[in-house]
Amino acid sequence: MIMRFNTTDYLAQSVEDAIQRNISLAAYNTFRFAYRAEYFAVADSIASLKALLAWAKEFKQPVTMIGGGSNLLIAADVSGLVIINRLTGINVREQGGNLVGLTVAAGENWHQLVAFTVTQGWFGIENLALIPGTVGAAPVQNIGAYGVEIKDVLVRVQVINALSGDVYWVNAQDCGLAYRDSYFKGKWKDTLFITAVELSLKKQAALLLTYGGLSERVKGEPSLKAVFDTVCEVRREKLPDPSELANAGSFFKNPIISHAQHAQLKARFPSLVSFPFEKGIKLAAGWLIDQAGWKGKQYQGVGVYEKQALVLVNYSTQSADALLELEAKIKHSVATLYGVELEREPVQLPSPVQADVPNMETQG
Ligand SMILES: Cc1cc2nc3c(=O)[nH]c(=O)nc-3n(C[C@H](O)[C@H](O)[C@H](O)COP(=O)(O)OP(=O)(O)OC[C@H]3O[C@@H](n4cnc5c(N)ncnc54)[C@H](O)[C@@H]3O)c2cc1C
Repeated sequence: MIMRFNTTDYLAQSVEDAIQRNISLAAYNTFRFAYRAEYFAVADSIASLKALLAWAKEFKQPVTMIGGGSNLLIAADVSGLVIINRLTGINVREQGGNLVGLTVAAGENWHQLVAFTVTQGWFGIENLALIPGTVGAAPVQNIGAYGVEIKDVLVRVQVINALSGDVYWVNAQDCGLAYRDSYFKGKWKDTLFITAVELSLKKQAALLLTYGGLSERVKGEPSLKAVFDTVCEVRREKLPDPSELANAGSFFKNPIISHAQHAQLKARFPSLVSFPFEKGIKLAAGWLIDQAGWKGKQYQGVGVYEKQALVLVNYSTQSADALLELEAKIKHSVATLYGVELEREPVQLPSPVQADVPNMETQG
């Protein structure tokens, strides 16, 4: 049985009682790989989280936080304490004028939050509908879809420092948010955990339909609800539902190359799919993998999804070995054909990344 504790239970219950040993993580990652956590607990309040982090510090155990497990590649048993984030609560503040502010606890479900904002008539995250996982993990890789990223609406994040137990706010512009990346995926990994996010949404229409053919797909007059429904519809058509076919969404980031390299590739492959991106050109990794002949291919219980080559799926295996081999094969053929290095999007556990957390002031 998984024990949860909230603030009240926490007073009556010792941390040790809330921590289980040697628990399978199969239900906590959408690839469904069945590796185990040495220690395991669910946190549903800041108090319980603080107590768990203090325990880990006292017993010198590394800490890993998991939300929905939809951007994870667990490839071995995880030593130390795995904490499942189930902090809940949404607080809404009218900000005057066109703006509305939301403070949302990290363990809330992202898609349910999007659906809630759409029913309220608030604009800003409707293009990010149906992205699995928790609100707290959304800034970790700066989730994005259909031309919108969470950084477009993120004001600040509340974090807890695993070493000191301090809880404070960090402004969004200080979090290193970039294309599918942030300091939470790098130098702050496993040391600063997000406990809440603050978003700023708009009350008046501000729809973005210029990406992914949304404008052609929206039926009738574009409205907030119509865009939300269309995004859900398109995603259901082309992405596998993790509850039916295990996967972690896009397995590779879209590579960003220089204009010069792009010109050379375009001359060799006129149908190359690419988009201007900041100072370079972003290539569609799915196109590269598809053209390299991988779409729909299966390999020892795993495979490349038949409708979207960017998505690797797990049909039947409990270990990550075959997936890692398939990844290496795909990377090799794309590098050989196009001279482009693919970079993995999901986070691997356990991870060797070292934390490097600057001193920050406690802000309540
Ligand atoms: C079908 C499918 C479609 C997807 N589509 C998209 C998409 O369109 N765009 C997109 O950007 N992503 C997409 N993803 C990836 C994934 O849904 C997102 O990255 C999501 O934000 C992950 O949330 P999670 O709670 O499942 O994170 P997890 O997988 O649990 O964790 C991911 C990483 O964040 C860390 N982490 C988790 N919670 C916290 C926290 N509170 N504080 C600090 N670190 C934390 C974990 O340790 C881990 O390193 C998709 C995935 C699937 C399966």
